[in-house]
Amino acid sequence: MATSTKTSVEGLILNGERVNASDGQTFDVYDPSSGDVLATVSKATRADIRRAVQAAHAALESKTWGGLAPAERGRIMLRMAAAIRERAEPLAELESRDNGKPLRQARTDVQVAARYFEFFAGIADKIMGNTIPLGPGFLDFTIREPIGVSAQIVPWNYPIQIGARGVAPALAAGCTVVLKPSSEAPMTALQLGQIGLECGLPPGVLNIVPGTGSEAGVALASDPDINQLTFTGSVDVGVQVAKMAAENVVPVVMELGGKSPNIVFADADLDLTVQGVANAIFQNAGQTCSAGSRLLVERKAHDALVDKLAARAKTMRIGPGVSDPDMGPIISKRQLETIEQYVAVGRKEGAAVAAGGERPADPSLPKGFYFTPTLLDHVSPEMRVAQEEIFGPVLAIIDFDDLEEAAELANRSQYGLVAGVWTRDINKALSLATRIKTGQVYVNTYGAGGGVELPFGGYKKSGYGREKGLESLASYTQVKNVCVKFA
Ligand code: NAD
Repeated sequence: MATSTKTSVEGLILNGERVNASDGQTFDVYDPSSGDVLATVSKATRADIRRAVQAAHAALESKTWGGLAPAERGRIMLRMAAAIRERAEPLAELESRDNGKPLRQARTDVQVAARYFEFFAGIADKIMGNTIPLGPGFLDFTIREPIGVSAQIVPWNYPIQIGARGVAPALAAGCTVVLKPSSEAPMTALQLGQIGLECGLPPGVLNIVPGTGSEAGVALASDPDINQLTFTGSVDVGVQVAKMAAENVVPVVMELGGKSPNIVFADADLDLTVQGVANAIFQNAGQTCSAGSRLLVERKAHDALVDKLAARAKTMRIGPGVSDPDMGPIISKRQLETIEQYVAVGRKEGAAVAAGGERPADPSLPKGFYFTPTLLDHVSPEMRVAQEEIFGPVLAIIDFDDLEEAAELANRSQYGLVAGVWTRDINKALSLATRIKTGQVYVNTYGAGGGVELPFGGYKKSGYGREKGLESLASYTQVKNVCVKFA
C-alpha cells in the first residue's frame, strides 16, 4: 500500500492533553478509496487505558465537572454542537477519507453528530426523579445520579455519529467517558475530543483512546473501575465484551448487528419504495448495522420491483468518497473479500445475481476496495445469504404471498434491529408493526434523518439496551431512593 500524505502522529486525548501512547507505538490509518495511508495515530496501551479511566474518575469527583450545575453542562454541549457545525466541511471530508463514504453522507453524519449534542444538551437540566407516596410521616423521593465512568467501544462505519450518540447522553447525565474508536477509522472521534476540550470540557471528562480491539478494547472492557459500558459492533466481539464486563458486574448496552427486512406489498407506491429500499441497502456501501439487507416482496410485485432496483443498481456511480459518488468503497481489503465470498456462497446456494456481484471493471477507479451494488434474487429464507449479516452492498430478495408469510419471514432471523413496511394499507402496516420483533419499525420510509430522537436498539442478537432518544438516559443514570421519616 502506497504513498503517505501524513505529516505527524495524531495523539490520544487523555486527561485533557494530546499525548503519545505510553510505549510510543503508532498505527497507520488507510484511506479505503485509494489504499493510501491517511494518518498515523498513537496506539493506546493497557497502561493508557488505565490512565484514561483514572482521569475519568478524577473528573467525576472534581468541582469542575462533578460539581458543575447541570445547565452549565448543557451550555458546554451546545458550544460543542456549534463547533461541530462550524467545522462541518473539514470534518465531513475527514470522515469521507477515513471511512470512504460519499461526501454528502459524511456531511449528514456530521450534522447528526451536532444534533446529538443539541438534543442532549437540552436534557442535562431535566433529568428528574419521582416522589413516592408512602403516607403520613414519610417523604420518599428518587434521584437520578450519573452512573459514573462510561466506557464506549465503537465501530468504523459511522464514527462521528456513533461517537456522538454515546458521548452526548453520557455527558448530559453528568458521566465521564473513555471512548475507544475503531483502529480502521479513528480520525473524527479524535476531533470530537479536541472540540470538547476547546469548548470547555474539563480534563478527563472525555478521553479518546484509539487502539486495537485485542489490546485497548480488551483493557477497557475488563477495566475494574469503569461503571458502565456501551459497545457497538459485531455479535461475536459483543459477547466477549459482555463477559469481560460481567466479571466486574458492569452493566452494558449492546448495539450489535442486523439482517433487517424491508417488506414490500404490491399496493405500495413503487417509485417511493425503490428509492427507500435501494438507499436502505446501498447507503454506506451496505456497511450499516440497520441496513435493509433482506427484501421481502409480495410475489405479484416481484418483477416490477426487481427490474426497477436492478436498473438503479446498474447506474449507480461508484468512486472515492470525496468525489461524492452514489457509493464509495468498502472499508478494507479483508471486508471486500468477505463480501465476495458471501456472493459466491449465494450463487452456490442457488441465488441469481440480478445486478452487480463483482468488483467494478472501471479502469479509472483508484486502487481502493470497491464492489458493485448487488441484488441476489430468488433467495430462500434458509440460505446463509438470507440469515447472516454480510455488511456490504448485497440485497437478498425473498418472495411472500400474504401478510402471515411476510410476518413469519421477517421474524425468521437471529437478529431484530429494524424493519421497513411499504404499503398503502394502514391495517397491513400496523398489523406488521406490532408483530415484527425488531427495535424499530418504519412504514413507507426507512430511517428518519439520523433518528436522534428515536429510541434505537435490538431485539434478539441485535443487542439490548437503547441508544438515542430519551430512553438512552436510562443507561447513563442510576436511581437512588431516599426515604425520610419525620415526626
Ligand atoms: P467489531 O465488533 O469488529 O469492532 C467493534 C469495536 O470493538 C472496534 O472498536 C474494535 O476495535 C473493538 N474490538 C474488537 N475486538 C475486541 C475485543 N476482543 N475486546 C474489546 N473490543 C474489541 O465491529 P466492526 O467491524 O467495527 O463493525 C461492524 C459491526 O458493528 C457490524 O456487525 C454492525 O452491524 C455493527 N454495528 C452495530 C450498530 C448498532 O448500533 N447496532 C451500529 C454500527 C455497527
